[in-house]
Amino acid sequence: MGVLKKRILVTGGAGFLGSHLCERLLADGHDVVAVDNYFTGRRDNIAHLLDRTSFEVIRHDVTFPLYVEVDEIYNLACPASPVHYQFDPVQTAKVSVVGAINMLGLAKRVKAKVLQASTSEVYGDPTVHPQTEDYRGNVNPIGPRACYDEGKRCAETLFFDYRRQHNLRIKVVRIFNTYGPRMHPNDGRVVSNFIVQALRGEDITIFGDGTQTRAFCYVDDMIEGFVRMMATPDEITGPINLGNPIELPMRELAERIIALTGSCSRLVNRPLPVDDPVQRCPNITMARETLGWLPTVQLDEGLSRTIAYFERILNCRKIS
Ligand code: NAD
Ligand code: UDP
Repeated sequence: MGVLKKRILVTGGAGFLGSHLCERLLADGHDVVAVDNYFTGRRDNIAHLLDRTSFEVIRHDVTFPLYVEVDEIYNLACPASPVHYQFDPVQTAKVSVVGAINMLGLAKRVKAKVLQASTSEVYGDPTVHPQTEDYRGNVNPIGPRACYDEGKRCAETLFFDYRRQHNLRIKVVRIFNTYGPRMHPNDGRVVSNFIVQALRGEDITIFGDGTQTRAFCYVDDMIEGFVRMMATPDEITGPINLGNPIELPMRELAERIIALTGSCSRLVNRPLPVDDPVQRCPNITMARETLGWLPTVQLDEGLSRTIAYFERILNCRKIS
């Protein structure tokens, strides 16, 4: 039986997660409209999709209103790497909040279902571990990460108020660290940094002593979680954690990447950024029970695929 063809908007569609999502939705037989201002996204990420008649791209900044007739909206537009979201913090807060208002307004007008790419950062530096959805978080509202953390928290508030006030069909997923091909080589996030450094034989920069933990989900698993969440009945809104619950210290991540690349890079310590969470790991019971979702790609397998991607792009292009 064929799928019911929908017209779907993906904001941030030229980014890392957005480009994989567009690819998946096209493969599922839908019409896809990607919107992006190319702040951290790249045309290269979606170049292979451009000749599809069911794919359309609009250069647009989501802090300005947009009108397109669609059935569903995935709202991913927002820089995700601490380096990029702290580059222009006022714009980051605007993208999170005004971008959400614009997408919620659009959803209301065209009666679309709308999914928000929220984040584990809403938990801040968590005092509950692993994090469950009912944990309200420990965010510093005036620190350098606040533009993103508080912006995403406010976006969640707006999603739930639009539901209460306007009966909108909303879905909120809290994404934990996700990695894979099409991360930007200069993205600044830990997996891409360590892989690029290892492949170039440069020092691997461990911030702090490397005992802080994260749990890493491969991109294909995350996209499967998005699609399953969007397909849930209207009474299911989330917020729901999506991530791989296998936690490891950053030093161990560096060692694994050195082993997988066969690199001669050395580990060096650099200062720990302000408000860097000490530990983070999702409790995914809700995703398992509600979506029947579990990550399937093991860390070494996902890292190997990501390393292969960076080997390819670093060989064919000089990155400045
Ligand atoms: P990314 O930086 O690769 O993608 C973000 C995309 O949004 C880029 O293409 C960028 O150009 C676009 N964008 C930024 N500002 C915009 C604006 N004003 N108007 C239109 N487009 C704009 O990051 P990603 O990892 O793909 O993250 C996608 C979403 O998922 C983000 O909302 C992020 O907060 C969320 N998220 C990601 C992770 C992760 O580990 N990858 C974790 C938690 C949450
Ligand atoms: N990190 C690191 N070296 C790097 C980049 C990041 O040790 O070159 C650390 C960072 O301090 C944090 C963890 O890796 O503790 C994850 O950082 P990332 O920026 O990927 O995402 P976060 O989870 O902090 O948003």
